[in-house]
Amino acid sequence: MAKFDLVVIGAGPGGYVAAIRAAQLGKKVAIVEKEKQLGGTCLRVGCIPSKALLESSHLYENAQVGMKDRGVTFSKVQLDLAAMMKHKSGVVDTLAGGIDGLMKKNKIERLVGHGKLTGKGQVTISSRGEEVQVEADQILLATGSVPASLPGMSIDGEYVGSSTEALKYDEVPKQMVVIGGGVIGLELGTVWRRLGSQVTVLEYMDRILPGLDSEIAKEALKLFKQQGLEFQLGAKVTGVKINRKTVDVLIDGQEPLRCEKVLMAVGRRPNTGSLGLEEAGVEVDQRGFVKVNSRYQTSAPGVFAVGDLIGGAMLAHKAEEEGIACVEQLFSSYGHVNYNAIPSVVYTDPEIASVGKTEDELKESGIEYRKGSFPFMANGRARASGHLEGKVKILADAKTDRVLGVHIIGANAGELIAECVAAIEFGASSEDIARTCHAHPTLSETIKEAALAVDKRTIHM
Ligand code: FAD
Repeated sequence: MAKFDLVVIGAGPGGYVAAIRAAQLGKKVAIVEKEKQLGGTCLRVGCIPSKALLESSHLYENAQVGMKDRGVTFSKVQLDLAAMMKHKSGVVDTLAGGIDGLMKKNKIERLVGHGKLTGKGQVTISSRGEEVQVEADQILLATGSVPASLPGMSIDGEYVGSSTEALKYDEVPKQMVVIGGGVIGLELGTVWRRLGSQVTVLEYMDRILPGLDSEIAKEALKLFKQQGLEFQLGAKVTGVKINRKTVDVLIDGQEPLRCEKVLMAVGRRPNTGSLGLEEAGVEVDQRGFVKVNSRYQTSAPGVFAVGDLIGGAMLAHKAEEEGIACVEQLFSSYGHVNYNAIPSVVYTDPEIASVGKTEDELKESGIEYRKGSFPFMANGRARASGHLEGKVKILADAKTDRVLGVHIIGANAGELIAECVAAIEFGASSEDIARTCHAHPTLSETIKEAALAVDKRTIHM
């Protein structure tokens, strides 16, 4: 039986990055993945294909309406959905091939099939009726998550689908209902709205983007409505009725909503199916997430877990950081994840990005803070590029001035937030950002101005 220092189950961002880091540290590593392509949810049916479609649909919408006032007009704009999907798949295939190459470069043994814990330090991999067993000093579970559904409502894949289906519709649905006003629902709702669908987002809560700073979420809601997304907040979906070619979405206390496609975007649940957790003594919490300690160690000796499987922010970069920290703690003694410095980004237009504490959290925990905001409309580069919507908000500790949170809604927010993540990671003050020279004219000047605004000395407002 082949023996390894580390066997990783699941080749998503948590698993494959951990495998590479362990190999860099000189360990003999194998990675088990049941899908043909490496890269996990993120690469196959998540981050990357959704961003390819967001980019392409943005181009389409811009060509139709977005450039007229800039002096660029087209006589005929047409949508070739098949070509758009082909581009998306091409991006995924190229990147998946890249991960294959990285496995080879780092001499990581790839084992294809479903991995299961079958004894202390033992993993059994089954594929097409055949089984292979391997031994490992340490085992890392990184099997990620799968789409969740509402109680009693199943995903049939044709009329009612998850994000996986919504990434590959072969026609633009006339009407689409998105159940859930979180990141995935809003991103994919935006894609199909841009391509011509009438999209209605149903959200149980009285706000969208739960967890995000509520002031920023409110502004986002206003902008998304202006763009043509329809919203019903406080909507309790009780079921779906599939007709011949349409679906009726049943909502408590109101008429059913008829549409061609339903996107179920109510969150994701840990992927623990047939992993042999119980037999191996790996405990899970009430929601099924694998329980770990600060070293990502499960309740079973020699078994570790990272990424979506252990809960927290379901983000690819969070999974990567945990994968690296876990193997560094195992094989080089030091590894660490600063959970307060994990950015999150919504890739709509405008983008929304945040890091650290929200204003709501600071209020709740009674932490005194000072706040500086700066609107994109007062920034030269934003004016020149026509990106006037949005603002930057910096929250700093009232006594120490240390940056506690940054929330941005505006063009390129996802790129702009990196500076703020670094600021929080290095324990910077808002004064540090305010005194840092930012190139002109760039959108990044909105960050400097927001930092100046914390001390009420903004220059351009
Ligand atoms: P996963 O990526 O889920 O990987 C787990 C892997 O394990 C899978 O490949 C699976 O096939 C494999 N596996 C499972 N069980 C077994 C088994 N028993 N044996 C062998 N293999 C197994 N995050 C971001 O940060 N940015 C984004 O823009 C973003 N966009 C998203 C868009 C969508 C539509 C979705 C669905 C998710 C998005 N996410 C995004 C979330 C991101 O994809 C996840 O947080 C991330 O993939 C989690 O990584 P992971 O390694 O924990 O698990």
